[in-house]
This record gives sequence, C-alpha cells and structure tokens, in this order.
Amino acid sequence: SEAGEGAATLFERIIARELPAEIVHETATTIAFRDISPQAATHVLVVPKTRYRDVAELAAADPALLADVVATAAEVAAREGLTDGYRVVFNTGADAGQTVFHVHAHVLGGEQLGRFGR
Ligand code: 5GP
Repeated sequence: SEAGEGAATLFERIIARELPAEIVHETATTIAFRDISPQAATHVLVVPKTRYRDVAELAAADPALLADVVATAAEVAAREGLTDGYRVVFNTGADAGQTVFHVHAHVLGGEQLGRFGR
C-alpha cells in the first residue's frame, strides 16, 4: 500500500527517527541502514520513503522510485567499499520469508557469498 494506509511499519518508524537505526546513506526518496541481524559481512537495507508492500507493487506504481532504490544500493556498495561485488535481494512474499511489508532491498557483500539462498 502507499504511505498513509494502515499502521506505521517498523521501517516507517525508522524513517521518522522514532526508532534507532545505523543509517549509512539517505537521499530525498530513500534511506539505507544496517540490518539488525546481518547475514553477510556487509548487510544494508535500502528502503523507499514511500511505502509499497513489495517490489512488484513498487515497480508497477512508481518505476522511477524503484530505480532510486537500486541506485542507492549501488551508492551504498561504493561507500562500503564493495569493489569486488555485492548482491541485491528483494524478498517478496511468504515463501521468500518477507517479514516487513514495506519494500526494501537487501545489499549483501564484503565476503564471497554462497551461490543463492541459505
Ligand atoms: P525481509 O525478510 O522482510 O526481507 O527482511 C526484513 C529484514 O529486516 C531482516 O533482515 C531483519 O533482520 C531486518 N530487521 C527487522 N527488524 C529490524 C530493526 O528493528 N532494525 C533493523 N535495522 N533491521 C531490522
């Protein structure tokens, strides 16, 4: 859903500075902060400031904002020194284990990653 519908999610409360997070980068439309439970040496979440439930809804509603999320992921990777590469993951729905229904890109790197999944 777009922002304004329903109760604030965890990530909306981080965007509003109502909850603490280790913010590593911010743009007019996105925010990036470290995952609280890192799954790689570097694990940052990139979140659009407008809420959509998942990447499919974001892509359909606002493709420019999806591009902002991917560009912010690249900027984070550069700032974090991930010169040997990184992975961008959008968990989408129950089978992927999505737990926060405010779309976010996981940026993972800083080590050799497994091929896919865990
Ligand atoms: P999902 O499975 O929905 O794609 O991932 C949600 C991510 O949010 C998880 O990797 C989880 O560790 C992270 N997360 C959950 N709660 C918090 C929090 O309060 N702060 C931060 N920084 N990350 C969180």
